[in-house]
Amino acid sequence: MSRKVHRHNRATGEETTCGPAQLDKMLTEARRSMSWLRVGSAVAQQQTIRDFGKSRAKALKDIKAKLPMRQRAGMPKPKRKRDALPTLNYNRNGFRIKGGRLHLAGGIVLTVVWSRDLPSVPSSVRVYRDSLGHWYCSLVVVAETVPLPATGRALGVDWGVRETASTTSDDHDLPHAQHGKTAAQKLARYQRMMARRRTPKNRPDTAGYRRARKAAAKVSKKIARQRQDTGRKWAKTVVRDFDALAVEDFRPKFLAKTTMARKAADAAIGATKAALVEMARKHGRTVHLVHPAHTTMECAQCGAGAKHALPLSERTYTCTACGAVSPRDKNSARVMLVRAGLNPASADLVSPAPC
Ligand SMILES: [Zn+2]
Repeated sequence: MSRKVHRHNRATGEETTCGPAQLDKMLTEARRSMSWLRVGSAVAQQQTIRDFGKSRAKALKDIKAKLPMRQRAGMPKPKRKRDALPTLNYNRNGFRIKGGRLHLAGGIVLTVVWSRDLPSVPSSVRVYRDSLGHWYCSLVVVAETVPLPATGRALGVDWGVRETASTTSDDHDLPHAQHGKTAAQKLARYQRMMARRRTPKNRPDTAGYRRARKAAAKVSKKIARQRQDTGRKWAKTVVRDFDALAVEDFRPKFLAKTTMARKAADAAIGATKAALVEMARKHGRTVHLVHPAHTTMECAQCGAGAKHALPLSERTYTCTACGAVSPRDKNSARVMLVRAGLNPASADLVSPAPC
């Protein structure tokens, strides 16, 4: 399977842009002349080439639009067997499910351990292997909505380092779970091991390097699973208790210089935000994603802006205009509600202390 994946480099050699029809024709010709290519399924090869063409077209479009480097989609890199994980996509013509088993084009039959029942007929399937060597099938189905009773309440959510989520309700704050505090040390050790055992470019990886990489992947996966689990549990209670959510649209910065603690906090926020958005979608709740700019500088009570950003060490927000005093994160969470156009009165109030 990996052979088919990494051998698609032919498509990169072409300088002209090709439509899907042309690419299909090229594939048919290539299959005629190369016997090893005929061994695999045409459907899977076709999809691989189309996906490649799509990401390449997007990269070209971004370059033409002169987008700054950071926002630009990268050119798809030719995959190499030794450093790319195998993945194959099958569209509707390329697979069917019969008797609980997955039949893929090319005569491959897979016995699948189903994680849940399929709510509808899937439109496509992606078969892939993760960094631990486990194989997965990911099926695309029409998402179902399970409505929950209305509560008439709204919640503002602000993300942070100490508390992963600070909200306008004291009962719904989520402290940073510190997942992988010891695991992080383990991970760092394996990463140092990988660095020591790395071979020069164009040389195959040593067995010791691969072992260290696998161990590092295992630790990261474990931490990621714990984060996802915590995020889902929290999202469930939030979605049950509130109809409308105003959520800071947090995007991690991926700075090389950030501390381990900041990286861990960012990863926790990312997993929790994703869980919340998905849970809200599932239960038909409204999510307003609020742009995070200056939310920590604004007074949720009167809307006046502070002249300077509060230093992170300052945990209390004191408004110079109206005198409202509230914990810094609670003020930010309320600003989310205000910015989303939701009535803060429908949220649990943070009582402003008079000066
Ligand atoms: Zn104020």
